[in-house]
Order: sequence, then C-alpha cells, then structure tokens
Amino acid sequence: MAKIKVKTPLVELDGDEMTRIIWAMIKQKLILPFLDVDLKYYDLGVQKRDETDDRITTESAHAIRQYGVGVKCATITPDAERVTEYKLKKAWPSPNGQIRSILDGTVFRKPILVKNITPAVRSWKKPIILGRHAYGDLYRGVELMVDQPGRVEIVYTPATGPERRLLVHDFKGPGVVMGIHNLETSIRSFARACITCAVSEKVELWFSVKDTISKTYHACFKNIFAAETQARKAEFENAGIGYRYMLIDDAAAQAMKHEGGFLWALSNYDGDVFSDVVASGFGSLGMMTSVLVSPDGKFEFEAAHGTVRRHYYEPLKGHPTSTNSVASIFAWTGGIRKRGELDATPDVTAFGEKIEKAVIGCIEAGIVTKDLVPLMDPRPAGHQSTEGFIDAVAARLKTSM
Ligand code: NAP
Ligand code: MG
Repeated sequence: MAKIKVKTPLVELDGDEMTRIIWAMIKQKLILPFLDVDLKYYDLGVQKRDETDDRITTESAHAIRQYGVGVKCATITPDAERVTEYKLKKAWPSPNGQIRSILDGTVFRKPILVKNITPAVRSWKKPIILGRHAYGDLYRGVELMVDQPGRVEIVYTPATGPERRLLVHDFKGPGVVMGIHNLETSIRSFARACITCAVSEKVELWFSVKDTISKTYHACFKNIFAAETQARKAEFENAGIGYRYMLIDDAAAQAMKHEGGFLWALSNYDGDVFSDVVASGFGSLGMMTSVLVSPDGKFEFEAAHGTVRRHYYEPLKGHPTSTNSVASIFAWTGGIRKRGELDATPDVTAFGEKIEKAVIGCIEAGIVTKDLVPLMDPRPAGHQSTEGFIDAVAARLKTSM
C-alpha cells in the first residue's frame, strides 16, 4: 500500500518521561507506516532544553508559526527537584508557557467521548470545549491588608492628561483590598482565538462573565467579544454556528442541562474553576486533549495531561505499564486532520479520522488501559499494557486502510 502524502511539513515537539515512550510508539506504529510526512522534529526533552539553553523551545514555537501546525508531547516543567534529578543548569521555564506567549495563543481543552463511559453529568452527550483566557485578573492581582481605618483609592496617572481617582472603600476598621487589571489587546486576541477554534470545530460559541455587577471590567470583555463575533459573522454563518452571551451563573446552570457540543470561553478565574469541573465531569485526564490556537490561526495539539511521571519509573525497572495513550494519539490525529484541512488534502484528513475511529473502536470493544476500567459500563474483564493498547489500535487501523 502506498503511503499517504502530506503536502506541508508537520512540526513535531518531543517531550519527557512516560509520554516520550508513548510518543515514540505512536509515531512508529500508527503514523510512519502510513504517512509520507516531512516532520520538522524538535526535541523538547528536558535534557535537550538544558543543552541548548532552552533555545530549542523558542525555535520550535517559531517553526509552528512558519508551518502552521504542530504536535507536542508532554514535557517536564522543571522545579528544584527536577534540576537535581536531571542535573540541569537551571529550572527552565514551562515550555507551554513560552510557546503560548510566542504564538499569543489560547488553550482549549476537549474531552474524547466513547459510548461505554458515561459522563458524571448525565445530560452531556457531546464534548464541551473549554477556552480559558490566560492573562491578568486574579493571576496578576496586587493585594493589600488594611490594618487600620483609612481610605483606599484607585489612582490612574495617564501619560498625558489629568489624574483620576476612585474610592474603593473608606475603611472604618481592618480589611483587605485587591487590584486587578487586563489588557484590551489580550482580551481581543482571546476572543479571536475562541472564534477561530469554534469555527474550526463547527461548534456554538458561548461567552460568559458577570457584566450586570461588573459594569465596566466584565462589560469590557463582553463588548470586545460582541465586536469580534460581529466582525466575523460570515465565518459563523459558513460554519453554521452561533454566538451566545450569558451571565456566568446562568451559563453554569445551562451547561449542566445541555447536551454539550459547544465551546465555552471563560475569563481566567472562571476558566480555572470550570476546566476542572468539565474535566472531572467527563471522566479521565487520559481522555482530555488540548489545542493551542493563535488568533491568526496557528495550531498546536497535545494531551492535557503531563508526562505521567509516576508510571515512568516502571519501564526503567523493566516492568510494563498500563498508561493511557489516547490523548497523545489524539494530539497526532488533531495535527494530521488540521494539516489535511489547511492543505486541502482530504485523504490526509480522512487518515487522521481513521486513527481516531480505531482508538474509539478499541475502547468500545473493551480494549482499554487500566485507568479506564473503573469508569466503564460494562466493566471489561482485564486491561492492556501501554504497548498492547497501541498494538490493538494499529491492528484495527490496518483493517480500515
Ligand atoms: P500527570 O503527568 O498529568 O499525571 C498525574 C497522574 O494522573 C498520574 O500519576 C496518573 O495517575 C494520572 N494520569 C495522567 N495522565 C494519565 C494517562 N495518560 N494514563 C493514565 N494515568 C494518567 O501530572 P504530574 O505527574 O503531576 O506531572 C508530571 C510532569 O508533567 C511534571 O514534570 C509536570 O511539569 C509535567 N506537566 C506537563 C504538562 C504538559 O506538558 N502539557 C502538563 C501538566 C504537567 P496514577 O499515578 O494514579 O495512575
Ligand atoms: Mg485549576
């Protein structure tokens, strides 16, 4: 059988520990036997980052800018313990954080659904994609303890023009205050990335804040979303999707009753809370994918989980593991499908879909890794090893080619 030709190179970012082992198996068993693809390979394994003084991370992000689509394995964000473990020069910053800032991107998380795992929320039938704004608010807040009576004010000193003051509170006794901010450019980029993702996934876009109470701060977010969605009305119409603004509490209640199949854009704090609600509502971290979308339409696909460190020490001792590779496989298929779509090569897109069908087919036939067993109905009698699962997917994929 001839291999399927991928027109434009795909950027590949390798990673660490258990996911690095899984990554190599996926590439060798599910990708390279079938695809003729020019992979622009960047090794983001922590040792290579250390060796290159982390230049490799920046280079990989620029390659995604250049080619448009990247697939990434999970990577270690080193802390003091990792610096010792891997004898690093220093605790290099998070690769994901760096790539996100170079691409000015927003991260969307999307669960993979299968028939025999029922979400904890009974009404959820389709994925809920969650987009979290990654700048400002609580996470860049300044805070102050007030220990005696006194006035607290916000003082704005513009580069030109008169100073403006606003009373926060006239304290009669002790208390506490906080100042938070956001940037118009950042909110706009976030809105654009959410629209790009909703259009790409062909799902309705929801956005929610509390503008009835926060008539300036939250209203600013609401207005920017309204303007950006209005400006791209034609794209919404072409994709057959809509835009809905709701108050955050209303949206939370609606989401619990809804069947899913929408993208929920959330401000930084709301996104922090609801991404964990949605992830645990759907089941397992091993079944959650993540895509970084830049406002100008560059995509990086990965698993939402980390390097599964605890499992990694088993193969080093020669023991097999049963680690879920599904989200890592879907990082590859997400990238392949997007590459096919951008290149207008339907055979490439169809191949990405075939791998996904093979994965879902295996799980629905009860061929799963250990983490999924307790979530399944009916419960399978046993479970596969990490490699055993990938081999089963490869066997199923071959029959569909
Ligand atoms: P983790 O890799 O997400 O794993 C935490 C636990 O969740 C695992 O020990 C395992 O539970 C379960 N789990 C996660 N993914 C699984 C899978 N595919 N299959 C089966 N079980 C899975 O988080 P971590 O251990 O806290 O972090 C390890 C490293 O990953 C850290 O160095 C961190 O910096 C990095 N990290 C990277 C990314 C990224 O690159 N996107 C994201 C998060 C963390 P059991 O042990 O109970 O089986
Ligand atoms: Mg959180």
